Amino acid sequence: MPNFPPQPKRPGRRAPEPMPSADAPPARDAVTPADLADQGTIQRVVHEADVLIIGGGTAGCLAAVELREKYPNLSVMIAEKAHVDRSGCLAAGMNAINAYLNPGETAESFVRYVRFDACGLVREDLVKSQAELFEYAVKKVEGWGLPVLTDEDGNYAARGRWNIKINGESLKPILAKAARDAGAKIHNWVVVTDLLVSDGRCAGAVGFSLRTNTFYVFKAKATIIATGGAAGLYKPNNAYDAQHKTWYSPFNNGAGYAMGIRAGAEMTSFEMRYVALRTKDAIAPTGTLALGVGAPMVNARGERFMAKRYPHLGGDGAPTPFRAFGPIEEAKAGRGPCYLDTTHITEEQARQLKAAYLDMYPSQVLYWAANDIDPMKQPVEVQTTEPYIVGGHCQAGYWVDADRRTTLPGLYAAGDVAGGAPYKFVSGCWAEGIIAARAAGAEVRDLPMPEVDHRQTAFHYQRTFDPLFNYGKVKYGVRPYDMEVRMQKIMEEYAGGASNHYEMNEERLLLARKYMGQLPDQFGQLVVSDMHELMRAHEVMDRVDVGRVLVEHLIARKETRWPAFQSRTDYPERDDLHWLKFVNSRMDTASGRIEVVLRPYEQLVEGDRYHPGETPGKKAPATPKPGG
Ligand SMILES: Cc1cc2nc3c(=O)[nH]c(=O)nc-3n(C[C@H](O)[C@H](O)[C@H](O)COP(=O)(O)OP(=O)(O)OC[C@H]3O[C@@H](n4cnc5c(N)ncnc54)[C@H](O)[C@@H]3O)c2cc1C
Repeated sequence: MPNFPPQPKRPGRRAPEPMPSADAPPARDAVTPADLADQGTIQRVVHEADVLIIGGGTAGCLAAVELREKYPNLSVMIAEKAHVDRSGCLAAGMNAINAYLNPGETAESFVRYVRFDACGLVREDLVKSQAELFEYAVKKVEGWGLPVLTDEDGNYAARGRWNIKINGESLKPILAKAARDAGAKIHNWVVVTDLLVSDGRCAGAVGFSLRTNTFYVFKAKATIIATGGAAGLYKPNNAYDAQHKTWYSPFNNGAGYAMGIRAGAEMTSFEMRYVALRTKDAIAPTGTLALGVGAPMVNARGERFMAKRYPHLGGDGAPTPFRAFGPIEEAKAGRGPCYLDTTHITEEQARQLKAAYLDMYPSQVLYWAANDIDPMKQPVEVQTTEPYIVGGHCQAGYWVDADRRTTLPGLYAAGDVAGGAPYKFVSGCWAEGIIAARAAGAEVRDLPMPEVDHRQTAFHYQRTFDPLFNYGKVKYGVRPYDMEVRMQKIMEEYAGGASNHYEMNEERLLLARKYMGQLPDQFGQLVVSDMHELMRAHEVMDRVDVGRVLVEHLIARKETRWPAFQSRTDYPERDDLHWLKFVNSRMDTASGRIEVVLRPYEQLVEGDRYHPGETPGKKAPATPKPGG
């Protein structure tokens, strides 16, 4: 008998509707531990393709189409945890493409801007190569049916310097259809848990079905990982039943980072966390207000504090970390809460504003309606979120070369899971999917299908289902939810959570290292009773692995480069002399130790590297020579 009461039926939780998919096996009743008492009832299914794409989201769908178009003889399969029609960050739609070269801009001017926005440190080669493909990618998706708005000159309608407006409610189904039509074989409802490695090369991945009792072995000559970033590492702003109402997709749990970490791939810049400034409670993106209707940020006294306190950084146009840091400092000084002031907008603008949110974040409009809020009459309250790890907004992720090859041969990374290139957004993720696809397709043409040692798949089979097999066997079982709460508490209190104003110091971080390091010892105690909970168990194990690496990165960077994203109270200054470099890490697969390595920054695009102003109120350090 299990040592806890059987899981009650969750009120209101319906079995998800089966969605149409050419390949999906018919949904069956949830698998119960009783079904699996005899482990032999789990089917093992092997699929092979030239290229495996893990994650059928923004980057994954574009990679699939590009592969099939450029190399029609290659077979391509996608393993997707949800259903490609509505999965990942794009599930609810988008109302703008945030990275595009509007008239007058070039790939170089984009690099200069991103370098400024990321406080001087980016992989310029990666940022430039994504910018060079913005137009190609957007035109492609427009051709598949995405409505891109245009101005009276026939140009795409600009929203600020780098954004263009779209009617993107159906963006995700459009991408999914394109991938399907291109002939990619799609496996929906498959949670990928680990990479396969054969002779030092990635040979595919393993996972399990959320709908049937199936263990999958996906063998491939090359693999593109496109699983997005990581939500849920820190205690969320919303608690209890709303705990998964996060800004970033809660289903993107960092699985792609975690499997790479466990396989020994090199990661970069985890310490550049992303703290989003979002509308309070609804957590909707604020670009729609700031850029869409020109709403400035004000504090509780109505002061335009960004212009007042950060003029040297561009005021309301200060680098993204400062736009989160500013309101946090206002709140600390007793001048919160902060708002985006929409009280100047016209009725037509208010209508357009709601239409824009309905294309991407309908809950914002519902929230206003439910709480009797009229943005024409009252400013919109904003709040910073819990920190995320997101390679597309910041630059945490796999260390890749120009072709998006990771340091694990045979494995490519694209989108939010790939590091070094912030400011990717939708179009940059598309560009990276395309770049990775071109390189992977060229590489595999003459390669044989890898052999995978059956001991490796047996190991992963056991690791995958252990929490389910533990049901009724482990005396002091731990449920995934309980481990998640413990992990989030550690990260919140010792590694710079919202309640500590995102601040941290060496002493706290060492405690975070200690307590996070204890959690893997409890993985063997995880107990679950159905496939949904099994997914939750893997999500929390992945989050712990990602969190441990994050803590090592936070310990390693002994400066404050990105206030709020990475605020070290013991090293409050930016220190270009010593820290204009990348903090990278690699887990030693034999010992499990996380080793930190530093990689140099290289300036490739001429021009001022960034504005001279430094941490507010502090003396600016000497600007190093270009490339220094
Ligand atoms: C709320 C929100 C609003 C945004 N607004 C804009 C905007 O207006 N404009 C803009 O340009 N950008 C916007 N962005 C950013 C942009 O959407 C993302 O950067 C981009 O979509 C990420 O693409 P991706 O392919 O890396 O990840 P995703 O599109 O999220 O795809 C990841 C996929 O991997 C799957 N997956 C995860 N784990 C596993 C696993 N273990 N096994 C199998 N599959 C797995 C997921 O289900 C998902 O389908 C927004 C992001 C968010 C979260």
